[in-house]
Amino acid sequence: MAAVYKFTDDCEDKMLLGNKGANLVTMTRIGLPVPPGFVISIEAYKEYKRTGRLPIADIEDALQWLEGHTGRRLGNGLMVSVRSSAPVSMPGMMDTLLNVSSKAHMVSAVKKIFGSWDNLRAVEYRRLHNIPRDIGTSAVVQAMVMGNRDDRSGTGVVFTRNAITGEPHLFGEYIGQAQGEDLVSGSRTPSPIQELRSAMPEAYAELEKLAHTLENHFHEMQDVEFTVESGTLYLLQTRSGKRSGQAAVKIAVDMAKEGLISREEAVLRVKPEELKALLHKRIQSVEKHEPLAHGLNAAPGAAAGKVVFHPIEALRLAEKSEKVILVRPETSPDDIQGIAAADGVLTSRGGLTSHAAIVTRAMGKPCICGAEEIKIDLKAEQFEVRGHVVHKGMEITIDGTSGAVYLGTLPLEEVEVTEELRELLSWADGFRRLGVRANADTADMIKLAKTFGCEGIGLCRTERQFNAPERLSAIREYIMARTPSEKAEALEILRGFQEEDFAAIFRELEGLPIIIRLLDLPLHEFLPSETDTDVPRVREMVRELREVNPMIGHRGVRLGVTNPEIYRMQVEAICQAKSVVEPEVKVNAAVMIPQVITVQELLWVKKQVKAAGLRVGVMMETVRACMRAGKLAHEADFFSFGTNDLTQAVYSFSREDAEKKFLATYLRLGILQDNPFEIVDVKGVGRLMETAIMWARRNKKEIEIGVCGEHGGEPRSIRFFHQIGLDYVSCSAFRIPVARLVAAQAALQEKADKPAEKVDTA
Ligand code: PEP
Ligand code: MG
Repeated sequence: MAAVYKFTDDCEDKMLLGNKGANLVTMTRIGLPVPPGFVISIEAYKEYKRTGRLPIADIEDALQWLEGHTGRRLGNGLMVSVRSSAPVSMPGMMDTLLNVSSKAHMVSAVKKIFGSWDNLRAVEYRRLHNIPRDIGTSAVVQAMVMGNRDDRSGTGVVFTRNAITGEPHLFGEYIGQAQGEDLVSGSRTPSPIQELRSAMPEAYAELEKLAHTLENHFHEMQDVEFTVESGTLYLLQTRSGKRSGQAAVKIAVDMAKEGLISREEAVLRVKPEELKALLHKRIQSVEKHEPLAHGLNAAPGAAAGKVVFHPIEALRLAEKSEKVILVRPETSPDDIQGIAAADGVLTSRGGLTSHAAIVTRAMGKPCICGAEEIKIDLKAEQFEVRGHVVHKGMEITIDGTSGAVYLGTLPLEEVEVTEELRELLSWADGFRRLGVRANADTADMIKLAKTFGCEGIGLCRTERQFNAPERLSAIREYIMARTPSEKAEALEILRGFQEEDFAAIFRELEGLPIIIRLLDLPLHEFLPSETDTDVPRVREMVRELREVNPMIGHRGVRLGVTNPEIYRMQVEAICQAKSVVEPEVKVNAAVMIPQVITVQELLWVKKQVKAAGLRVGVMMETVRACMRAGKLAHEADFFSFGTNDLTQAVYSFSREDAEKKFLATYLRLGILQDNPFEIVDVKGVGRLMETAIMWARRNKKEIEIGVCGEHGGEPRSIRFFHQIGLDYVSCSAFRIPVARLVAAQAALQEKADKPAEKVDTA
């Protein structure tokens, strides 16, 4: 293995040359106009780390070759740049040295690049992006071309497609008579790339042609640095371009249609985070609001929060769960933690390829760049715009999709599903095995979930239907009732409400399946707190129903066993609504019993409710139910894992308190890697689920098993649910597109990981 590779050598190994180095070799091989150079490999970096020695003889040989190739000597007509090149992209995190004009300078420059792998911001960036520390970097030495030579020179950064919308045209910036660092530092304001077309039409046409060549080769949208020296175009660097969620989807779909990639590849290309970004919020009735200022629409979505001027302040407030907008003249890689903590970023300088723009787009956060009318005073912690002074702590709303800044917190709403997203998700639907259902409790929520493509409702929590004032008072009447006839009267009123709700839900479903969970909530949750009422009877009931541990108290099926009339009433309401609606549309309803621990509970409830024609399933959310899954499977028509309560039970963490009290500390100290209420705990909860599935299927092979806890919409958890053979995930409406995408990716990745199966099914 050599220590130094010329761009003309036959090696494109990214683990040896890093991304940039390997791409330069590839670009040279496919005949692109790349200034010549060589790469001091990652192996050489590792050797340097071990011994402190660089491969000087090999570097000298390569330099001699470069001088021969260019016909110039270093320091005498030839200058070189020295840049870092790691196997993973870490934009702007390590050092770059330009205008290096002596051998000695070049050798100190290489050492500096190697040293910068361990600088603070690179270390922090790796931590944030889970990049291993030991992969290392190479150093790329390249002949410099002069973008500032004359009036037919210049430099720019161009994306081969629009990085915000995904439209298939060049997108980027250009500065005449300038070097690359003028663009990066923001010291001069760039012009849109389209101005190159009028300034130097031949160079622009050449750039367009090369953009096609690059995409045809890499099958990916590229982010290209170029320089024009006296009318001649050179490409200095290319890499996969970072893009907004909207652009990611459009580019994947367009490229599949153009035949550049397959539909499978298109589905695999879009990251769940990118999709989430696409489903970001926007300002409600935006036309009614007068913007305070405008900037460049650098990363889409809207966010509102308190203005802060320092990244550290953003971190401090975000830790207290406050929403913040980080306002800076421009951002630098040192601000990465503050950007990660903020809800959105606003800068007064910098363009669409500035640091703030690229980083926020990748993170899926709204960002406005280059809002030049905003005059920021960092010391006074305020900005001034057209006579308004906005101090630290005041609230603003930014719209990264339009570039408008507003005073105050404006109401935000989610975006609708675009045509391209619809198409991509329909391809995904063809690849996935997991079903995707929604957790929804009302006809309105079901309507919304249908627009996101749900295949049914995996969890309808009936207690949510008692929230409206007239319903709340009806259930309070039931709780307060002193005699059986008072109870029956109150239940009759509730039955009416439930029947109405279920009929509306069934009509909205138009035949899609629904799992209705019978009442789970402890009754005292329907009562006011003792201090909020003067009614003696209510106070008395509050005291009577009070529990020390309500989350593991008199709730779920325990309530159904002690108060069977509630479940009876609910099931009768479902059956009645079904018979009313059935003549119009088919009703596919099932009921589910929460908090079950033993088959006797299930048998008892089944006997009580006589759920004629309805399937009856068990919510798997207690440890005992999982351990008795085989037995339960005999009596249950289906299972659905309630991973919220199951996590609570497995960890003995209260799901109400853990996140507020100690989880953040556990995560900070690395005692736990992830929040188990967010990402399913594969090693504990996951194992229990696997055990339960194994016993259930052993006894009833065809039993339907899904998951309806919050984890059902979380990408890493969905991959696990696919792996353990669940039939479907059920999640909140806004997470459905992500669930459809990730379920397809899990199936495609599984296929790719098992070549034998791939051959069989081909
Ligand atoms: C669960 O416990 O995972 C669940 C879905 O039910 P709930 O959150 O209503 O307890
Ligand atoms: Mg539960």
